[in-house]
Amino acid sequence: MAGGLLGVGELRPRPLPRLEDISLPASRVAPPLGFVTGDRHARILHTYGRAYRDVLRGFRGDFSPAPDLVAMARSEADVVELLAWCAREGVTCVPYGGGTSVVGGVEAGRERGPVVSLDLSGLGQVLEVDPVSRAARIQAGAFGPAIDAGLAPHGLTLRHFPQSYEHSTLGGWIATRAGGHFSTVYTHIDDLVESVRMVTPTGIWQSRRLPASGAGPSPDRIVLGSEGILGVITEAWVRLQRRPTFRASASVHFRELAPAVAAARDVAQSGLFPSNCRLLDAREAALNGVASDGSHILILGFESADHALDSWIARALELATTHGGICPRGPRIRAGEAPRADDAAAAWRTAFIEAPYLQSALVSMGVIADTFETACTWDRFDQVHAAITSAVLEAGAAQVTCRFTHVYPDGPAPYYTFLAGPDDMQDELVRWTRIKDAASRAIEENGATITHHHAVGRMHRPWYDRERPAPFARALSAMKRELDPAGILNPGVLVG
Ligand SMILES: Cc1cc2nc3c(=O)[nH]c(=O)nc-3n(C[C@H](O)[C@H](O)[C@H](O)COP(=O)(O)OP(=O)(O)OC[C@H]3O[C@@H](n4cnc5c(N)ncnc54)[C@H](O)[C@@H]3O)c2cc1C
Repeated sequence: MAGGLLGVGELRPRPLPRLEDISLPASRVAPPLGFVTGDRHARILHTYGRAYRDVLRGFRGDFSPAPDLVAMARSEADVVELLAWCAREGVTCVPYGGGTSVVGGVEAGRERGPVVSLDLSGLGQVLEVDPVSRAARIQAGAFGPAIDAGLAPHGLTLRHFPQSYEHSTLGGWIATRAGGHFSTVYTHIDDLVESVRMVTPTGIWQSRRLPASGAGPSPDRIVLGSEGILGVITEAWVRLQRRPTFRASASVHFRELAPAVAAARDVAQSGLFPSNCRLLDAREAALNGVASDGSHILILGFESADHALDSWIARALELATTHGGICPRGPRIRAGEAPRADDAAAAWRTAFIEAPYLQSALVSMGVIADTFETACTWDRFDQVHAAITSAVLEAGAAQVTCRFTHVYPDGPAPYYTFLAGPDDMQDELVRWTRIKDAASRAIEENGATITHHHAVGRMHRPWYDRERPAPFARALSAMKRELDPAGILNPGVLVG
């Protein structure tokens, strides 16, 4: 099917690299502590994140940027000890949660000297639940499913579901300001963090548990998005919610994109705050098996643990249909049942969960398949969208699709997928770089952000540098120097 879509005929998978054939650069330093290893398999597993270029280099068997060592921390004391050794010996330390970074956040390279990848997955427990305040203390290396399993017996949930939920960690979410699956209000990890504990090379950073505070700039907001350059997050208190039991959903079909965008905007500005307000353009809807008749689809959904949602979905539908949308199946309203959605939403959810596996399969067949995302104000969306779409196609993509992952009263977060078929004449990395640069330039020139939730890492660095105010960059560098004077933590990310 992908071959047909890209007009390139049948696609064939290339042979997979064999573990034993991979040549790794020699470790330049011996493991100094019992929980640190120079094991070849561990080094291969910690070489890359999950960006397109990571997956491609993996398929090519290129693991030349491998870290020298991997530390499997079992406790906060291990983290403290490792950072002290790194600072003494001038060894770079790259915090590693689930390794799902799509922006080069966990790949330090070897140019600056020895590198140790610090794997936090050994800190994976839900430590404490406060049912009165509805909050929990959770270790930073806990993965999404372990967090939910630990909270389920209390009838509570963090309700933070990034697409990488199964393979990413609380610490990684906090360090990258991850965005969850829901479209409005409590979906970003930013709003779910009550307090954070972080080991810095110069001491422990522990904020107070508070529902809110006006006491100066927020220490938590500085840790959020710090991408491993200021310290290693070891645990956090996070805000919880009761597990929802009331649900309502509907899918609205539009012939044109502009009225669908206007409908999404009206819903976003209505104060209804749906859990889902996901607009799929016609190509995105077709690619994901949601609609094949050229319709643009607005998926609306509400969830609550407290009240029925009939009037919420009715009002959202009223707003959407005012713009000419039709809802062929009407709304689905349920109470006390396991989550189920209408057909379009269910098709979308299946495609959403399978997308990462599909990307790997496509890359293995020589297809360039990648995504990027941004956010802009509503008044600028048409211009931003037109500029991005034409830049990506002109740079060599065969297909580009768009959806809104999140909507705010003042603007959407559009998310793009691009595909390009194999080309024997040109290296995929060169072609991918051309498309990615064209997209990033269009984003920057049109006043949008280089990332809404994928983070900066090493990949978005040049664009991030241009986006942020210069005095802010200097202040962030000064904070980095104060907390990490030897500059051992994740160099090249955000500053320096
Ligand atoms: C298929 C797929 C889907 C994705 N979907 C989403 C999505 O829906 N929403 C979203 O926001 N992102 C998404 N991402 C991106 C990625 O999953 C997020 O950035 C996630 O938050 C990274 O978590 P992680 O535990 O894997 O961190 P890693 O990838 O291991 O690390 C990410 C960054 O955080 C730092 N870091 C990790 N742990 C710590 C710690 N304990 N202390 C200090 N620094 C740390 C690392 O050094 C690195 O810079 C997706 C990625 C993939 C591959």
